[in-house]
Amino acid sequence: MENTVKIHPAVDDGIKPARDGFAGGTLSCACTTDTVTVALDGQTAHNHVCGCTQCWKPAGALFSQVAVISRDKVNVTAHAEKLAVVNPNATIKRHACKQCGVHMYGRIENTAHGFYGLDFVHTERSPESGWAAPTFAAFVSSIIEAGAKPEAMPAVRARLVELALPPYDCLSPALMDALATHAAKLSGVLK
Ligand SMILES: [Zn+2]
Ligand SMILES: [Zn+2]
Repeated sequence: MENTVKIHPAVDDGIKPARDGFAGGTLSCACTTDTVTVALDGQTAHNHVCGCTQCWKPAGALFSQVAVISRDKVNVTAHAEKLAVVNPNATIKRHACKQCGVHMYGRIENTAHGFYGLDFVHTERSPESGWAAPTFAAFVSSIIEAGAKPEAMPAVRARLVELALPPYDCLSPALMDALATHAAKLSGVLK
């Protein structure tokens, strides 16, 4: 039987490949007037689909799609006055359009955090193609907290595997290792 689980519009019909030499593009919020725009001056990295309850998801999607880019390559180019931080207590300060709700970029302000210096962005909000392709699924079990049925999980995980998006219940091993390495260096365990 064909697995018809819908993950996210950017992956459901096949994942679009990255383009060599891709130099970035502009993200837009969903407002048709006074649109917030954010210019990304370069390619993104670590693109993935995320099941956590904090990332912005398009209507009806089980997962968000989110990538990182150096914060110095992120510039709000129009209607910054419409942006507000969704949850000031979260590690990632997600700057969202107050009118349409789209998250335009997420920023870590804690300089001791392992991902400090990286902003989180949703490249699907850009009309350009050639962005880094998603390569894994993070925080898969968390979709239950957003309303997915626990009994649906085997089909969701099977679909992710079919899409070559290995499912993890935290971040990918490479990113978890990077965070743990950073923490071990901070504590002095790792010299
Ligand atoms: Zn908007
Ligand atoms: Zn997330």
